[in-house]
Amino acid sequence: MFIQLEEIKVARVYNFSAGPAVLPEEVLREAAEEMLDYKGTGMSVMEMSHRSKAYDTIIKEAEADLRTLLNIPDNYKVLFLQGGASLIFASVPMNLMKNRKAGYILTGQWAKKAFAEAKIYGEAVELASSADQTFSYIPDCSDLPITDDMDYVYICENNTIYGTKFHKLPDTKGKILVSDVSSCFLSEPMDISKYGMVYAGVQKNVGPAGTQIVIIREDLLTDDVLPGTPTMMKYKVHADNDSLYNTPPCYGIYICGKVFKWLLKNGGLEAMKALNEKKAKILYDFLDESKLFKGTVRKEDRSLMNVPFVTGNEELDAKFIKAATEAGFVNLKGHRTVGGMRASIYNAMPIEGVEKLVAFMREFEEKTEK
Ligand SMILES: *Cc1c(COP(=O)(O)O)cnc(C)c1O
Repeated sequence: MFIQLEEIKVARVYNFSAGPAVLPEEVLREAAEEMLDYKGTGMSVMEMSHRSKAYDTIIKEAEADLRTLLNIPDNYKVLFLQGGASLIFASVPMNLMKNRKAGYILTGQWAKKAFAEAKIYGEAVELASSADQTFSYIPDCSDLPITDDMDYVYICENNTIYGTKFHKLPDTKGKILVSDVSSCFLSEPMDISKYGMVYAGVQKNVGPAGTQIVIIREDLLTDDVLPGTPTMMKYKVHADNDSLYNTPPCYGIYICGKVFKWLLKNGGLEAMKALNEKKAKILYDFLDESKLFKGTVRKEDRSLMNVPFVTGNEELDAKFIKAATEAGFVNLKGHRTVGGMRASIYNAMPIEGVEKLVAFMREFEEKTEK
């Protein structure tokens, strides 16, 4: 049986979605080419046993490439899991809350949700919060009320909804730092050795929803988990089985692997950081000079990935979003809890996408003034 594939010709939009979000076109095309026959196996990766030789190569290469990209130290394990970043809100206390006490820094919805989940299992203490100003800044974390009996300190490093980022990590006073990096993962280099555990839902910057990546220090992987912890939520079980305890999210891991290769080919995370800074600067510079559009975040805490902005007038916001959508700039509506607009400009958003968006905003502003 031989199937001839036509060349794929499609019209793509500039997709500013916060997640699931834009992926590199090159990766999508490659996946499309391999859809029916992955490297002569005569089947799609979707149809392949996770115990097969071909798949073993896919998952091993994905891990090796991720280790290269992030320079992950040897005493850290990489786990490919499923269940959403939201399931990790529970598995963190289940695996790490030995004293049943941990400190949380509340910088937005995702940190708050993780905090609420941790309270099911033990004493979750609010160490700092920026709720007083709608999470538009990162609180001072240089001298937090961390006590000796806390098992870890938890942060959400890039706040997808509010557009803030920890540019400096909190002083955890010797406690393990656990960080949700879902929306900034692989957008710039990070020093893994500063963390006990980092994790990301990949649908923001790396791959399709359904896969989560956990990077955890080996000494934190023990059988000493909270009573009642399901087998599937024990990190040690997944680590002992190289993420193949059960069927992993095979296709998702395959796409992540392709994105890792795309990142390596394009200069790795230093190069990605430089490009992301350049892209974000175009948008932030415009917001700083615009009379119509304003950024909502304190300057020194701005995210490179998620850029929220408003006109100050809800009707005008709605008009802008409608006009932008018609012009091919889609998913610019802010999160339902904050309103306004948000442009998510992840790794795969080309610089032309940001330049054209700013040109469109400038034009909209000029028309509005008249
Ligand atoms: C999207 C997001 C989540 C939730 O991810 P799910 O996979 O939908 O559970 C958690 N944390 C951050 C920072 C996010 O951006």
